[in-house]
Amino acid sequence: MKAKEIMIQKIESNIETYMELVQTMYNNPEIGNEEFETMKLLVDYLDKVGFKTTSGYVVPTGFLGEYDTGKEGPTIAVMCEYDALPEVGHGCGHNLIAGIGVATGEAVKEIIDQFGGKLLVVGTPAEENFGGKVSMSEAGVFDEVDVALMVHPGSKNGVGGRSTALNPIKFEFFGTNAHACKPQQGASALDAAVMSYLQINLLRQFVNQNTFIHGVIKDGGEAANVIPAYASLEYYFRAPTMSYAKEVTEKAIQAVDAICKANNVTYKTSTYECPYEDTVINYKLADILTEKYTELGVENIYPVEEIAGGSTDVGAVSYRCPTIQGNIKICGEEVSGHTVEMAQATISKDGEKGLIKASQGLALTILELLENPALLAEVKQEFKETVGKNYDNFT
Ligand SMILES: [Zn+2]
Repeated sequence: MKAKEIMIQKIESNIETYMELVQTMYNNPEIGNEEFETMKLLVDYLDKVGFKTTSGYVVPTGFLGEYDTGKEGPTIAVMCEYDALPEVGHGCGHNLIAGIGVATGEAVKEIIDQFGGKLLVVGTPAEENFGGKVSMSEAGVFDEVDVALMVHPGSKNGVGGRSTALNPIKFEFFGTNAHACKPQQGASALDAAVMSYLQINLLRQFVNQNTFIHGVIKDGGEAANVIPAYASLEYYFRAPTMSYAKEVTEKAIQAVDAICKANNVTYKTSTYECPYEDTVINYKLADILTEKYTELGVENIYPVEEIAGGSTDVGAVSYRCPTIQGNIKICGEEVSGHTVEMAQATISKDGEKGLIKASQGLALTILELLENPALLAEVKQEFKETVGKNYDNFT
């Protein structure tokens, strides 16, 4: 049998096992950095099918599955996400991403000996807020990787897109308590926070396109009859590049600074979650995945989405090696991300079909790169040229 058929059949004949993994994760959702049971589930499986595994890789709930042919060749990394969300469980479908990653890894492992190289299945936890991929990128996990791949489920088939750089900033305000009927003896941290909220809102009109600013009042005092000495705001500043996200953050800080002076209040800023970079697109990889999806009968494949929507820690990986995060449709467009309905789609018949097509698409993309070193060289050349231009965004 040819390598292509071996992989296609492997994924189809094993689909029940993969869907059991997906179902187990669906039943036991664990949020970012707490995915210990999920890590064990996936590591045990990879162990069983012949990968050399490491649990607690770089971060406590990260893992690595390694298969080295011992022969010269490229290093290919397939990424698994598996963190859930509070309230809606696997409402972002990361349980299916893990299923796709494992299925892809197992299929490629069947054939990679014919070509040489090294296969990694990388368990990258806490995508939603703590950025497992950011920690791993900083630790150099992707520096020797030739190509990193994954597919995210959703309401469309596609070959990925840009994502916004995200700078998460907390503002803390420190005033002076007083009896609310002797307010002149106090200084309201809440007033400074509210004025800051309004002023930052006004900034929105004066920023470049595709820049998003959104925040909440996290602390606003405890009692109506006490002038609050403490208040805080948590913000996301998102922009097409990290350097612009930081520029906008700086404008907000200047406004907060002036407002605090006016209210006799002091303030402090901090980075309260993990900053995410924008995603560098590799068009060559997108072309290959499009071709493979088409070959597999995947319909309505969206091209690279040039206007960034949300943010992802895949951005960090995309600054280290040629990276692709494709999309696979598992539900209708009426279902939005981060909902119970999306979680349900992961264990539906469409979820199963999505797992098959996505992992076959990735496996065939990897096969193409193994068979065709000149194409891999083109992918890497594009990375070098693009990331050279974008790298100053990275800090
Ligand atoms: Zn997601």
